[in-house]
Amino acid sequence: MPRTWSKEQREAQSRRMKAPQVTIGPTEEQLIIAQHQGKIDVSQEDIFELASKREAGQEDSGSITHQRPGTVRLYKPTARGYSPRNVPVTNLPSLLANGWKSKCPDCGGDCGPDPNACPGREKMGFRVCPVPSCGKKIHDFQAEEAVEVDVDPNLIKDGAYIESTPATRTKAAMDIHILARHPQEARAAGLIDVRAPVVAGV
Ligand SMILES: [Zn+2]
Ligand SMILES: [Zn+2]
Repeated sequence: MPRTWSKEQREAQSRRMKAPQVTIGPTEEQLIIAQHQGKIDVSQEDIFELASKREAGQEDSGSITHQRPGTVRLYKPTARGYSPRNVPVTNLPSLLANGWKSKCPDCGGDCGPDPNACPGREKMGFRVCPVPSCGKKIHDFQAEEAVEVDVDPNLIKDGAYIESTPATRTKAAMDIHILARHPQEARAAGLIDVRAPVVAGV
């Protein structure tokens, strides 16, 4: 027997059919925040070692437990593409809102701090800091930023300033690093800080 619908029932059914089916789920950002929330780094320090008070044979001991927000690796948008940084989890919501990414947008993975380790980027030349305890790598990022200059007949081209190469660019960047971080080695290597003021009579 066919079912007879009242006017109200038909209207109610019609409203149900038209109602959009929307599922509101967590966004990718919300998932990342939820995943890392409450992450805490714990480290312990021996208070006697800390205060250098421990004497040979002393039986006393004690320790301080440090608790701080855990860190997570995010990819920061920079003029040279996305660059990984370890940030406290408490900063996650604001950084994600400011365009930082939880994965490297170039490769879609977590390729880490070495730009040549990213499968989605072109490999670039680099130098390694000659100070053994440092070993900082300086990559030739500027290769990506080369700009074509308009050919103008008035442009003076006498070679007074040679065109930079990966070698000269990374050398210049490494010199700045050594001068700033390793002044003693810089002196030994005969590097002169061109930014330092010249003092007359010295
Ligand atoms: Zn990558
Ligand atoms: Zn160094």
